[in-house]
Amino acid sequence: LSLIVMKFGGSSVGDADRMKRVAERIVRAAEPGRRVIVVVSAMGDTTDDLIDLSKKINPNPPAREMDMLLANGEQISIALLSMAIHALGREAVSFTGWQAGITTDASHGRARIADIDPKRVLAALDEGKIVIVAGFQGITPEGEITTLGRGGSDTTAVALAAAVKADLCEIYTDVDGVYSTDPRIVRNARKLPAISYDEMLELAHLGAAVLHPRAVEYAKLYSVPLVVRSSFTEHEGTLVKGEAALEQGIVVSGIACDKNVARISIQGVPDRPGILAKVFTALGNAGVDVDIIVQGAVDGGKADVSFTVSGNDLDKALSVIETVRKDVEYEGVSSETGLAKVSIVGAGMVSNPGVAARMFEVIAGQGVNIKMVSTSEIKVSCVIESESMKQVVIALHSAYGLDTSEQVFVGGPEERR
Ligand code: ASP
Ligand code: MG
Repeated sequence: LSLIVMKFGGSSVGDADRMKRVAERIVRAAEPGRRVIVVVSAMGDTTDDLIDLSKKINPNPPAREMDMLLANGEQISIALLSMAIHALGREAVSFTGWQAGITTDASHGRARIADIDPKRVLAALDEGKIVIVAGFQGITPEGEITTLGRGGSDTTAVALAAAVKADLCEIYTDVDGVYSTDPRIVRNARKLPAISYDEMLELAHLGAAVLHPRAVEYAKLYSVPLVVRSSFTEHEGTLVKGEAALEQGIVVSGIACDKNVARISIQGVPDRPGILAKVFTALGNAGVDVDIIVQGAVDGGKADVSFTVSGNDLDKALSVIETVRKDVEYEGVSSETGLAKVSIVGAGMVSNPGVAARMFEVIAGQGVNIKMVSTSEIKVSCVIESESMKQVVIALHSAYGLDTSEQVFVGGPEERR
């Protein structure tokens, strides 16, 4: 590997000692003949602390000034990390997002990278320097500082890797890799040696916090090979790539769960074009993320519509629905909290029709009722009572053979004989 990008998250550089250890690791990786670009996040809780501080000063700060503030976290990290590398006798140079040529759109707080012109980065590499780039930030063509949204340093790393055509982008974090499910829930969850971009994308959207979803989108778009690994151990991590060859033929690679789900049902919605659009546009404008949507059969020109939102958004969603009551002329609204969403994800599902049925069987076997279902090509999600979530995840994890090294293959074990 002659050109790599190494990204270190906030906990990996949380204090001076950790910063020094990361510098040692970088210097070891930057062996003769290998060029290294490092992307780093703000130290520890810096970003959260800055947000808290701003709230004390103005509970509703202008988005532009928020970006001016938050971009500083990463700027502290790059300077200190470069100093730490110099202390080890190696040449390094730190760059802010704009110095590294990262241009974004103007959506403060959730900007998207529009373009990267890496000429300064490449020139510094040519001079034999280790290049340290601030994650999470960029600049608009008008010269305004922007940030990419929480966890956005992953995206900086992958986008830079794509722009310089790096051989590998390594994401160093505080866990060993991507796990088959949350190890806090299933004790014998296993670390996946490899996973495909599509599977990772589903898991990231389902809340596997190990990678920022947009970083995975980028990696997929530009075919950047990614590794997620621990900055505290030498263990091999999880490789994220186009086709996870090692795992091919396996039905389910991972199980995700979300314990804070609420269901809203709107009863007696008139069956007319544009009605659903009104409801969901209003919710979207209010920034409420709607997940599973189910419309029941139409009866007497009216239908019931149910959908899920995060438990945190329930009150907001209910008040938005109240505001469209006159316009939509629905009959009533009800809601339910204390729900959880459990999802199975696996590229092997595409060619294996019985997967959803098996999931329902396992859940039924636990005596748990399924309240809602949604599917995609490589995912099945079920909404259940959150009290039963842990038990269901454990049962599914074992039913799909994720507990042990023994895997459940497409078509069941018989087919392998
Ligand atoms: N420092 C930013 C955050 O905490 C970006 C990142 O860590 O990736 O969200
Ligand atoms: Mg952070």
